[in-house]
Amino acid sequence: MKIGNITASLHKHEIDLPGIGASIESRMFVFVEVETDEGLKGFGITGSILPWAVIACIEHHLAPALKGRDVLYTEEIHSHVWRKLNSRTYTGVISNALSAIDIALWDIRGKKEQRSIHELLGGFRNWAPTYATFGYPFFDEKQLAEYGQKFVKDGHRMLKMVVGGEPTRTWRDDIRRVKAAREAIGPDIDLMIDSNCWFNPHDARLLARGIEDCNVMWFEEPIQQNDARALADFRQVTGIPVAAGQMEGHRWRSRELIVHHAVDVIQPNVLYHGGITETVKVGHMAQAFNLPMANGGGWPIFNMHHLCGLMNGGPVEFHYGMWMTGKHFFNGTPDPVDGKLTIPGGPGLGFTPNYENLAASRITDPRQNLLEGRDSHGYLLRETIDARK
Ligand SMILES: [Mg+2]
Repeated sequence: MKIGNITASLHKHEIDLPGIGASIESRMFVFVEVETDEGLKGFGITGSILPWAVIACIEHHLAPALKGRDVLYTEEIHSHVWRKLNSRTYTGVISNALSAIDIALWDIRGKKEQRSIHELLGGFRNWAPTYATFGYPFFDEKQLAEYGQKFVKDGHRMLKMVVGGEPTRTWRDDIRRVKAAREAIGPDIDLMIDSNCWFNPHDARLLARGIEDCNVMWFEEPIQQNDARALADFRQVTGIPVAAGQMEGHRWRSRELIVHHAVDVIQPNVLYHGGITETVKVGHMAQAFNLPMANGGGWPIFNMHHLCGLMNGGPVEFHYGMWMTGKHFFNGTPDPVDGKLTIPGGPGLGFTPNYENLAASRITDPRQNLLEGRDSHGYLLRETIDARK
């Protein structure tokens, strides 16, 4: 079964949150579809970072290099991409573009063999624990408390909130925010924090020291650039476990985190980490170091398969905006029920594109300012929020 046409398109979805207002988050993704000579089709996505560059990479570089190759030979395909297009193992655009195609190849393989991807990866179990990311960076203590309680009431057992991310806020403000969230949700709900590589080692340490009594389950990407050496030092001085790895791009960057003792939890995300093929390699490497895996960087419906399929798979992240975006653009996606996700029964990814909603949300003009008033994650900037008041 040979690879035929590969198409890529950019889509955008606005997220509303009751009580906060419309369009609190603008979520974009690149949708990729791979056709085969046997008529089977598979799809995958990658996130919103430099989306036009990702689309150009797919259309002008990856598609011509991969056309005619056997869909099932993912090792041969990756090897060809490393040699032909990425001999110096860049991350970023090429990793993201390859990720979306690789997910589509695994979707096709599952459809061909009538198996779910998690089964093809080893079928450890057909479920995973879940967590919800509810704590937007622009939430104050009151909003964190209110939404934390709402999510607990909805059945979530593990919650994650963002710290950092606001130039006008300091580590001291984040201590108050984390304490407010912990107080609101009580002692029996797991709480994680995520700074998206915001802090320098000094400020990360001060924040961690200030929330020692909050029983935080992990501090995700606490330090700028995921500097493995600094993360290893940080782990020596804090009791809070460290998680990282969502956008490292390939196994060699993940290896640096692992061998430097920089993480307690490794978080390869299939959208940015070379797809399922490369993510599974990281999962197996982590097994040899007795490291658990968890989802960072959201997109639960694409990350559930390796987290269910491999024996060190941990919780799947239902980041609110990406969760809602997934429901909008794909049919048959699972929701978390009482802190648990069950893999849908269908072959491959197990859910299907909603072509109507994809067509209605497509962005075709590269000159459009995609992030006006927002940060690189698509979240509102403080001045945008203030201007709305
Ligand atoms: Mg994260």
